Amino acid sequence: MTEVVRTASEDDTAAVAARLAASLPPGAVVLLTGDLGAGKTAFVRGMAAGLGIDPDEISSPTFTLIQEYRPAARVGAGDGQGGHEARVLSHVDLYRLEGAEVEDLGLEELSAGGGVVAIEWAEKLASPPIGAVQVTISDLGGDIREIRIEWLSDRPATHR
Ligand code: ADP
Ligand code: MG
Repeated sequence: MTEVVRTASEDDTAAVAARLAASLPPGAVVLLTGDLGAGKTAFVRGMAAGLGIDPDEISSPTFTLIQEYRPAARVGAGDGQGGHEARVLSHVDLYRLEGAEVEDLGLEELSAGGGVVAIEWAEKLASPPIGAVQVTISDLGGDIREIRIEWLSDRPATHR
């Protein structure tokens, strides 16, 4: 399944990302590809918003390779009983890594916890995880971006 949308602003892109994130099952992995400045980090900020996380917390993890963000604590939120479960967002940026360094990060463990994982420069992964969502962002000039959202296999197994 593939969906292609065009956005005309960073806010538009964030809205697309928020909608995607809110629809993802626990443990989902989102692979982000696109040139520098395409809007991958902007997309991750939107994902955060969709998961109830303050998007302003999201920075480019230039030096820290993996950052984990949690939704603001809600009174009585417990461990996900009733209503939305609080899903952690793991934000990974592979820009500075190569080869074996990428494989040594232990990315599988991030999604095993049931959160949502967003990986920038995901083309550096030797093999994309089964059921991952591939998001490819292209700069069409000005503020126009084409965002291609592709489920690499069927929906993740955790969905049903
Ligand atoms: P990347 O992480 O891919 O290197 P960033 O998300 O850090 O890119 O930066 C994207 C830049 O492009 C930001 O300055 C953002 O304001 C700008 N921008 C302009 N139009 C858009 C759009 N439609 N979607 C996303 N970002 C946009
Ligand atoms: Mg970035």
